[in-house]
Amino acid sequence: MGNIIILDESISSKIAAGEVIERPASAVKELVENSIDAGAETISVEIKKGGVSFIKVSDNGRGIEADDVERAFERHSTSKIKSVDDLDYISTFGFRGEALASIASVSTIQMTTRTRNSPLGMYIELHAGKVAEKRQTGCAEGTSIIVKDLFFNTPARYKFLKKDSTEARYVSDIIERIALGNPHISFSLTVNGVNLLHTPGNGDLKSAIFSIYGKETVQGICEINYKDSMVRITGYAGRPEIARASRNHQSIFINRRYVRSKIITSAIDEAYKTMLMKNKYPFIVINVEINPLLVDVNTHPAKMEVRFSNEQEIYRSVYHAVSDAILGKQRVFADTFDDLKNVQNDVDIKSAGKTETPHEYSQMKLYEYSESESESESEIQAAAEAIKAMTINAMTIKEEGSHEGSYHEETAGQELPIARILPHSRLVGQAFSTYIIFQTGEKLVILDQHAAHERIIYEKLKRKFYKGEPLAQSLAAPVVLELSHKELDFLNEHKEIFLNLGFIYEDFGNNSIVLRSIPFLTYEAKDIDVRSLFLDALDTMINFDGTKYSEVADETLYQIACKAAVKANKNMSELEIRALLNDLGNIENPFTCPHGRPITVEIEKHELEKMFKRIV
Ligand code: ADP
Ligand code: MG
Repeated sequence: MGNIIILDESISSKIAAGEVIERPASAVKELVENSIDAGAETISVEIKKGGVSFIKVSDNGRGIEADDVERAFERHSTSKIKSVDDLDYISTFGFRGEALASIASVSTIQMTTRTRNSPLGMYIELHAGKVAEKRQTGCAEGTSIIVKDLFFNTPARYKFLKKDSTEARYVSDIIERIALGNPHISFSLTVNGVNLLHTPGNGDLKSAIFSIYGKETVQGICEINYKDSMVRITGYAGRPEIARASRNHQSIFINRRYVRSKIITSAIDEAYKTMLMKNKYPFIVINVEINPLLVDVNTHPAKMEVRFSNEQEIYRSVYHAVSDAILGKQRVFADTFDDLKNVQNDVDIKSAGKTETPHEYSQMKLYEYSESESESESEIQAAAEAIKAMTINAMTIKEEGSHEGSYHEETAGQELPIARILPHSRLVGQAFSTYIIFQTGEKLVILDQHAAHERIIYEKLKRKFYKGEPLAQSLAAPVVLELSHKELDFLNEHKEIFLNLGFIYEDFGNNSIVLRSIPFLTYEAKDIDVRSLFLDALDTMINFDGTKYSEVADETLYQIACKAAVKANKNMSELEIRALLNDLGNIENPFTCPHGRPITVEIEKHELEKMFKRIV
């Protein structure tokens, strides 16, 4: 007896019908998802002419029993839903029991399939949904489906198709996404006889990313590994350097199905908020594992947009998962912590004493190493070695042994953020009174003093602001400012935000106020223009169209940081530079200024050697 049943009316009417097959890529998606559902380990896809004339999807899955081959092509036939209760559980996965029927009705289909237990397989051929041939055949275990002349009997749909090359791109896009969502399955894609994609299927997502996007991308990504009471979130998030001008390199999966989700996308954006320039989008592959009951059923199948019953919590979890990953929180800090403990025993450096977090501990150890360099020859050697060991260790990708890991030999993997290494690098000097140059390992690092300082001040202000700690620093000479009615009204309405930001003022009559304090860090900047600091903050608040309190405050904090930060074209003493680095090593995000410009750029030694033709 076969497994496939025909859904009764009460169930099928509950299923969002909709037209599933819009173009070759949607047919490929349905066929490949069937192969995945059939437990395949290897899935190969071949298309010709953008998939319009020819699509072949072959898998080594469990196959279809002889009794069922015809039934598989009937509408609302599925082996995956048995009762109404099941619907809630599986609706996220797109089991609608209509894909094969839909594809068959607009094409010629040939299918060969064999289950493990039957010595012979079945061949079936359908024209426009009508069975034309059905017989036993010898074939490999699994299922192979050929779709020919898609939309031959629906000229309107056919006309709507784009150029073959464009349709082929849609197909390869969908295969890439599915491959990223299923790293334990080996996918291959052949277009017009040329193999375009082959993933190893070794269960390792990084290997799949390597096969699809290449070495540079793999070198620029950080692992996402997050869990709370509701979700488990895994994947990889790209560093700002590999961000792109579109969202094409973003793949979101819910329980391994590729989806679109506004809430997840905006949580990702928020995590990268101060790290990217406008119109830049981070690389991301993210899988959210969640109880299917918490994912909303009533969604459009073709658009793949999902909803969650608890959007706020999902938003928060994704935000934390991603920002932890890009700030290197779990990986760098945790690994470094352990590595340092070992190194410490080996080298016998004085105990660091008690500290609160692994991060602080590792920071302190790093400084200790740099200090110990002055002590003795052998200690210099040991401490330098220790830092190197730690850095290399952080660079080595963690997962070992569990897979064949084809990328290991080819890519270096993740590094310790450069800002955390700089305090131990050789200071070469300052150039153009704007850039500070360091030599570390095999590269030169050039740091933009303004961008770095801006980020430091922004983070310090932000930390205090959100903790509700006082930011105000009294002015020796209060400043009187004349304002418009509109501005005064706004100030009265938003007095609290200004107060929290460190601006303390009183009404001074005659449409004016007297400003008695400004945010504390700005006071250090001797040449700061208090008047414009306040007025610009006011303008920002008035004009900013963000509705959220935190957005308005953030924008104002950026601006204050920018004003207070050391300018370009300013000479800095070595002492000042060291202080800057010290601060930079201690902040959460040492990668970009609050507006997303990079803080450092790097030039590899071998690039210089190339320039000088020492190597070719
Ligand atoms: P659904 O996937 O929603 O169940 P489909 O029309 O896509 O509906 O497929 C109908 C049925 O055909 C599936 O439930 C499954 O039992 C069977 N089937 C389709 N493709 C395969 C395959 N590659 N391997 C094994 N069984 C398959
Ligand atoms: Mg299906």
